[in-house]
Amino acid sequence: MTDARERAGRPPLVALLSGAGISTDSGIPDYRGPQGMWRRDPEAEKLVTYEYYMADPEIRRRSWLMRRDSPTWRAEPNAAHRAVVELERSGVPVRVITQNVDGLHQRAGLDERKVLELHGTSRRVECTDCRASGDMAEALARVEAGEADPPCRECGGVLKSATVMFGQSLDRRVLGTAMEIAQACEVFVAVGTSLQVQPAASLAGIAAESGARLVIVNAEPTPYDELAESVIREPIGRALPALLAELARDRAG
Ligand code: ZN
Repeated sequence: MTDARERAGRPPLVALLSGAGISTDSGIPDYRGPQGMWRRDPEAEKLVTYEYYMADPEIRRRSWLMRRDSPTWRAEPNAAHRAVVELERSGVPVRVITQNVDGLHQRAGLDERKVLELHGTSRRVECTDCRASGDMAEALARVEAGEADPPCRECGGVLKSATVMFGQSLDRRVLGTAMEIAQACEVFVAVGTSLQVQPAASLAGIAAESGARLVIVNAEPTPYDELAESVIREPIGRALPALLAELARDRAG
């Protein structure tokens, strides 16, 4: 494993792990966290559980309606998303590892190669059979046009959002890269995540054990607070821009 801190001539890396809390200011509620809407509503949870989704066309029909009505399509990046882009543009190497599927880091202007989406993206669809992928907007247009459960155009297989549903495992390559970033970074900022869902949460522990400064920005206590150099409870929309501006100043000075 290469340690980025030892690579000559490169400024130290800042890694940011973002969870649902960074997008609530954009109007996207917490769906999948331990206290999220899906976990509290068994019927809604079925719509995003792989086993039910694959077994029942009625679940798929309702799932497509839920996607159509998602607040994600109206959501704009907020001050916290923009602050990450500003840090990156100040010359600090930044990698974002996100538990969110809303694509708002990229919409804010962050290079998509710098964003690792642990749970995939709601802006794409994929075939559960042949793995063909496409735009969610195109699939939703088919739903609007009357297809209750639009099948894959390539093979006729079941189409789903390109997100990791309950009952599916994370992409091992994505997780492996996330672990390398956690080991290599100098500062690891966990923002808007309860750090209760593994394996994502363990990235904070890996970073701290590897010598990174761990900063947690979250309204509620997390299991990793004791490992953190600082824990910030202020609202994310104010706290994150201030924190990242300070990091950028440290680099400049
Ligand atoms: Zn297919």
